[in-house]
Amino acid sequence: MIIVLRPKTEESLITQVEVEVKKLGYEPRLIRGEIQTVIAAIGDERGHPSLESLGTWPQVESVLPVQRRYKLVAQEGRRSASVVVANGVGIGGKEPFRLMAGPCSVESEEQILAVARAAKKAGATFLRGGAYKPRTSPYEFQGLGEKGLELLALAKKETGLGIVTELLSEKHVEKVAAVADLLQIGARNAQNFSLLQAAAGSGKAIMLKRGLAMKVEEWLMAAEYVMSAGNGQVILCERGIRTFETGMRNTLDLGAVALAKRESHLPVVVDPSQGAGRVDLVIALSRAAVAVGADGLLVEVHPLPAEAKSDGQQQLDLAGLNLLVEEIAPHVKAMGRAG
Ligand code: PEP
Ligand code: MN
Repeated sequence: MIIVLRPKTEESLITQVEVEVKKLGYEPRLIRGEIQTVIAAIGDERGHPSLESLGTWPQVESVLPVQRRYKLVAQEGRRSASVVVANGVGIGGKEPFRLMAGPCSVESEEQILAVARAAKKAGATFLRGGAYKPRTSPYEFQGLGEKGLELLALAKKETGLGIVTELLSEKHVEKVAAVADLLQIGARNAQNFSLLQAAAGSGKAIMLKRGLAMKVEEWLMAAEYVMSAGNGQVILCERGIRTFETGMRNTLDLGAVALAKRESHLPVVVDPSQGAGRVDLVIALSRAAVAVGADGLLVEVHPLPAEAKSDGQQQLDLAGLNLLVEEIAPHVKAMGRAG
């Protein structure tokens, strides 16, 4: 931490700050400028109380952090990007661009198998599908629960695709982890810290969605919860945030993808389906996601979107999935991420 003192601070008040910094476990180093004096507080901020409250002292102008608060997630000190491995498939680093496709919700055996077969054929390596759904209304379809998990397991058995499915509650950790290769933490739970720790404890790789109103720093801090609980297998997923825009369900924040890739070594994937909330924008946003440097796409696909029990308006049909693959291919190649 750097403590900037107000111009012309008296010696006794400078000493008072130095004494407090020492008391809190840091080594103070005084740097005298022509107008202002600053105190560099040396020490790891993780093991000591924060010095931020010194900002309330009258002789202190500001307290500036030097280290990132997300130590394990931060890029600093790391030479290369991390690769997360799930179901034997690497995501991130120099691995090929990964496609994760499937319905918003698992609805029936027929539905999930139809999408799984089409996804496999289109080159996807993961099948997505919610068995437990976080719905805004308690009267809407809440997912098939355990039955949904069984159907995902069946689809995996047939196609070999890895499974991405949401963990909605701590109560379900064991059941969901038994089927999922990537445990999805949804946008609404992205700062549910006890759920994050419980998910981390499952030992499964975690796909952490960005919350609806979460700053990038908060998103990375949520990932830090998973990593500090001993699970380094974390993938970040940008899925759009709330803004003043009403033409789309959310605003897909591709700047955040570039920023998260710069600030951290973790893989970042993009969900253009929740991002736009409308199927006609999904392919354009997918092309952009590839170009901005995402490591993969999480995209909603349904055999009959008009009959979907959730998010029908934003799901591609099977022909749409093939078109998406065709449309992103040149961009994937241009980014050097072809398989
Ligand atoms: C989903 O993937 O269907 C979903 C509910 O995602 P989010 O948590 O990003 O809204
Ligand atoms: Mn959805």
